[in-house]
Amino acid sequence: MAPPLLAAAAASNAARSPLLRWVLTAVVASSVLLVVMLLILLSGGLDAACAGARVGVAGTLRPGTVPAAYQQMVLRAAGTCAGITAPLLAAQLDAESNWNTQAISPAGAQGLAQFLPGTWASEGVDGDDDGIRDPFNPADAIASQAAFMCKLLAAVTADQGLTGDPIDLALAAYNAGLGAVQQHHGIAPYPKTQAYVRRIRTLSARYADPAASAPGDGPPGSWVHPIHGAQITSGFGYRWGRLHAGIDFAAPIGTAVYDASNGSVIDAGPASGLGQWVKIRHPGNITTVYGHLSREAVTVGQAVQPGQLIAYSGNEGHSTGPHLHFETRPNDTPVNPIAFYAAHG
Ligand SMILES: [Zn+2]
Repeated sequence: MAPPLLAAAAASNAARSPLLRWVLTAVVASSVLLVVMLLILLSGGLDAACAGARVGVAGTLRPGTVPAAYQQMVLRAAGTCAGITAPLLAAQLDAESNWNTQAISPAGAQGLAQFLPGTWASEGVDGDDDGIRDPFNPADAIASQAAFMCKLLAAVTADQGLTGDPIDLALAAYNAGLGAVQQHHGIAPYPKTQAYVRRIRTLSARYADPAASAPGDGPPGSWVHPIHGAQITSGFGYRWGRLHAGIDFAAPIGTAVYDASNGSVIDAGPASGLGQWVKIRHPGNITTVYGHLSREAVTVGQAVQPGQLIAYSGNEGHSTGPHLHFETRPNDTPVNPIAFYAAHG
């Protein structure tokens, strides 16, 4: 903006001089232009930052696969739950209703996410805050689907009596009910349910952005913290003459541990010194190590997304108290994770 004094002086002279009149117009016009440009820059910058953060956690959608009207709803819903990705939600919506918001199955399941009225009564949420929980409203249906899947994933991951991949188990529970999965100690042996799990896995790969989710190659993905709200109790460096090759986060036994970036699991189970561990390979020949775990939630060979639940912290191995030991290893050489994260945004 033109300083008021200059503007006033220019205005008083403007009537007398055509040159001053032109200067005054130019000053006012360029100030307005500057403010408009600043506003555009600010809003664009903020949007990009938010979208980036959300996609990093939620898994990235292959462009053009999800109907445009539901894209943001799916990404937002996936961002509400570690372990539930946008491609997974999209695959379910496709299989459940073929993206038909008004779908009603012969069994009476309703809307995009095909909730039965009884399940909707207990699990339906108001996704768009309009005060109404409506299974035929896409915003409500997608938010409810993500919340319900999150609940099922937590239940199957916590249940020591189940075998199988947690996502497969959660999908089976979505299809056949959690009771059926628990009763059979794994994916319920119904052909319909087994076909559902396979179909969602296939569709999910179709909805996933290959550039973002291909394990082992492609550009490095985003990096997220392996544990939430935990204090660092020991840093990277030499302790009593030997290298402490990672950082330690104090955490009660059973705290959720999350994958740091997209990749695939290359080790999960007992490891000398670290008790139970998980090791993950990421694009760019980077590996991450999660040690002293009480339980793994992934199996070797499994593809993982940033923020996906991979294990629970513990106090196994050479450990002086419950904590997570976390390492970042470019070319399998441990570096200070704090410096590594600073370099990887
Ligand atoms: Zn440690």
